[in-house]
Amino acid sequence: MSESQNKNPKPIEIFAMATDPIYIGTGGYTIGRVDNTIVRDPITNIPKIPGSSLAGTWRYYVVLETLKDIKDYQPEWEDIKNSEGDTVGKKLEKFNWNNKQPDGWRGFAGNQVMKITCAGQDNIPQEELANSPYATDKNGKTGHCGHCIVCKGFGFSKKDISWQGQLFFSDLNILFFPVFTVRGTKWITTVSNLREIGLEEDEPSKNKIKTKKGDERHLNLGWLHLEVEGTHRFCNEIEFENFILTPDDVIIVPKSLFSHIINSNLEVRTSVSIDPITGAAKEGALFTSEAIPRGTIFYGNIRIFDKSSFAQAEEKLQPLPSIKELENALMDSKHYYESLGIGGMTTRGFGRLKIMLI
Ligand SMILES: [Zn+2]
Repeated sequence: MSESQNKNPKPIEIFAMATDPIYIGTGGYTIGRVDNTIVRDPITNIPKIPGSSLAGTWRYYVVLETLKDIKDYQPEWEDIKNSEGDTVGKKLEKFNWNNKQPDGWRGFAGNQVMKITCAGQDNIPQEELANSPYATDKNGKTGHCGHCIVCKGFGFSKKDISWQGQLFFSDLNILFFPVFTVRGTKWITTVSNLREIGLEEDEPSKNKIKTKKGDERHLNLGWLHLEVEGTHRFCNEIEFENFILTPDDVIIVPKSLFSHIINSNLEVRTSVSIDPITGAAKEGALFTSEAIPRGTIFYGNIRIFDKSSFAQAEEKLQPLPSIKELENALMDSKHYYESLGIGGMTTRGFGRLKIMLI
């Protein structure tokens, strides 16, 4: 492998399936009859999971996964003294695992100073990197430690150094979207979606669709009634543990219809705001929310960069996690998407995803 290939590795592909409806809000815009709208691609108008949401949740999940195992390990600190010999601060002297260093990425040198606050917004962005593992804000809260695999992998910004990180998440776009038909639930996709995953297919004619059998003549996709033009060549199976998407489940629709069908088959729920004090429904507090339905299959990628040459130039950043360590950290923490999920309204049964990395 040449050096340039090594520095810009092949991205890791992500396939994800919504096992709950997914709600990632835009923050209070109302469109039509929906109060809580979801994030969409500005050009195609198709809902998506933004890469920033993925990065934010995964950051948190790697922290959870690490802290489970390392809470018993303590780093060694060295006091920083002024010329009078008074202690004016602390410096991390060495990462001492006391001869019981966890295996693999969990044993990465800086993980000993990881805290739950390495996820989320940094409470102490104005600290110097050397003080960051123990420094607190005026409320006593720690922030990004700047040393652990999460801070180095996902990035951090301090008074003396800003580090972009080594992990870059694309958006998760809808690859297959479930719709009701008289023949049961089918998953629609487009020729350009399939090209994203390396499959070639011919575009159906205007307002016509392609199925595996190709002999249904007409088929309803939700409310839409469309002519079946013929067969498609899609012959792969996409497997998520106990769910398998088969070629028979797949319908190829023209690109011009994809967004329309998705947007008219989103899950729309009406809820009532509850007054937290009385426990009763607030008057006039009925609101509607839309969500990407369960069964939707998404596709995206993660790029992991080996930045060891940057770290050599900037001694404070050493050591950096390897590509393999970061890959394993993501792999071992993705199970949290199946319990804690992504996006909003997770306490109302939204947000869970099954993630597959390839
Ligand atoms: Zn950290």
